[in-house]
Amino acid sequence: MSITALGSSSGPGTTGSRRDALASPHAPAPAASTTGATLLLNATYEPLCVVSSRRAIVLVLAAKAEAVDVTDDEVHAERVTVAVPVVVRLTRYVRVPYPVSVPLSRRAVFTRDGQTCVYCGGSATSIDHVVPRSRGGTHTWDNVVAACRRCNHTKADRSLAEMGWSLPHPPGAPSGAAWRLLGHRTVDPRWREWLGMPDSVSA
Ligand SMILES: [Zn+2]
Repeated sequence: MSITALGSSSGPGTTGSRRDALASPHAPAPAASTTGATLLLNATYEPLCVVSSRRAIVLVLAAKAEAVDVTDDEVHAERVTVAVPVVVRLTRYVRVPYPVSVPLSRRAVFTRDGQTCVYCGGSATSIDHVVPRSRGGTHTWDNVVAACRRCNHTKADRSLAEMGWSLPHPPGAPSGAAWRLLGHRTVDPRWREWLGMPDSVSA
């Protein structure tokens, strides 16, 4: 796994000196060698976010979360040995503010549009602005689509009406709990059953 959002490429079992951006500086320090990422579920099993494994262990030790899936790795913390969790679930439900906006990224647009060109169904290789930016089109979820290079070049700075093209459905921001994780970091394969994401989705 990689933790690109936090500037670390180290996986479980490796040692690293990544600073834990999410852990409280006053939390007990369970393990200096814990560098993995853990999927945090709400008490209802709804995915909430990704935290460092270090942070997850702190939550488990504080009885604020329980391990749902663990790795073979163990850390010694507070005189106990804890398996490094892959997925943890909060013991108490937390209310999540909505809406949660999904960061607009090339990869997220490709994922939303199924990696295919919205115009011809071919393999998507670029992002097209439906209303061209030169005509005031915005770089927002409702104006960006995945497109193949050929369609993108053919369309150029013209509108759909001028091309006689149409979209299968109006583009929009993706929604759903799993999307909160997208664009932030690599999705651990062991998280998928909790995310309800197809296998092709990666952050
Ligand atoms: Zn195309």
